[in-house]
Amino acid sequence: LGKERGFADFTVNFRIRDWLVSRQRYWGCPIPIVHCDACGAVPVPEDQLPVLLPDDVEFQSEQGNPLARHEGFVNTTCPKCGQAARRETDTLAQWLCSCWYFLRYVNPRDTTQPFDPQDIAKWLPVDQYIGGVEHAVLHLLYSRFVVKVLHDAGCCPFGEPFEALFTQGMICKKAEDGKLYKMSKSKGNVVSPDQLITDFGADTLRLYTLFIGPPEMDAEWQDTGIQGPYRFLGRLWRRIWEARDTLRDTSVQPDLPAMARPERDLYRKLHQTIKSVTDAIETGFHFNTAIAHIMELMNAFDALKGDGPLAPQAQAVGRETLAGMVRMLAPFTPHIAEELWVELGHPAGVMKVGWPEVDTAALQADTIEVVLQINGKVRGKIELPAGASRADLERAALANEQVVRHLEGKQVRKIIVVPGRLVNIAAG
Ligand SMILES: [Zn+2]
Repeated sequence: LGKERGFADFTVNFRIRDWLVSRQRYWGCPIPIVHCDACGAVPVPEDQLPVLLPDDVEFQSEQGNPLARHEGFVNTTCPKCGQAARRETDTLAQWLCSCWYFLRYVNPRDTTQPFDPQDIAKWLPVDQYIGGVEHAVLHLLYSRFVVKVLHDAGCCPFGEPFEALFTQGMICKKAEDGKLYKMSKSKGNVVSPDQLITDFGADTLRLYTLFIGPPEMDAEWQDTGIQGPYRFLGRLWRRIWEARDTLRDTSVQPDLPAMARPERDLYRKLHQTIKSVTDAIETGFHFNTAIAHIMELMNAFDALKGDGPLAPQAQAVGRETLAGMVRMLAPFTPHIAEELWVELGHPAGVMKVGWPEVDTAALQADTIEVVLQINGKVRGKIELPAGASRADLERAALANEQVVRHLEGKQVRKIIVVPGRLVNIAAG
């Protein structure tokens, strides 16, 4: 209302407050200021920067800042008048330096400057920042602040340090009081990964951690939950190990037109899975759904196995499905994926073969389900070839047993066909 009438407007409240950046301790970046009795606080001239910490400081007392007791560091001359003066002994708070570490990451070995402007223009800003939501109002905001200052000073070509932010949830554990608590050292409810790695392997632990829930939500850790991913990896391992000799036979390649129904369904399921796993990872890092899709594909694979030897196409599709699963699992379970990849007869390096590609031809359903309605009421469903024409649909609908029964004694007035979906018959 105030905005409409022109006397008020919305504003963003950054909740930003003045924050003291100096600390009375050794471990920090020296503040380049010299205190002179005559001139006051004088900045250290640029050609004398950076002011380095002395590396022979003594930490003999728990009282005060050891830097302030280091005579060699403290005593200096005033850059302005040349008289004896004292260096500032406070150092910068570590959070201030952590506001621009990503710039330094680009040139960690450059001893002549903090970062190379050309290099940061090439590599930055950061594409994706992943961190806890507790950083959103402090660290991330101050990082933006520092980068904007550097940008205004002409040292940095961009004004925003991060292009995207993803804040992950916390892992929680149920306590004896039945409530969920965030896992933390101070609460003493942390599960040791070492024991789980010993019992189940590092890949199983990784898979369970990623499978536990949507990454943006808090998730409840359950000690029994690791069994599912453990059994799944064991199952995949056995399928490949047991059939490793036939799996290495690549004389027949999957060929869609040559496939019979069961292997064609599995082939489609494989490529649907590649598509949905890719989507799940790329939109919001939904690793849990990605892994669930791969597990479903395992079930579809097992459904293909019949009694006796498989037809050549079924074998080829089965092999391709297992290989696809291994490639999709590689980012989640790198060790077991690499082992299985080699077991499938490939040269080492599953990470190097890249991400599997979707065969769009396989995604096309070869049959469609058509709903049959009479006067808007559903009377049945029929399955027809995907390419069925309007006339095909009409003919099939009128021949349907249910439709014939419901039309008895009635006159067909009009037939509405929605291709690929439904046939509605108006009759009375
Ligand atoms: Zn002076």
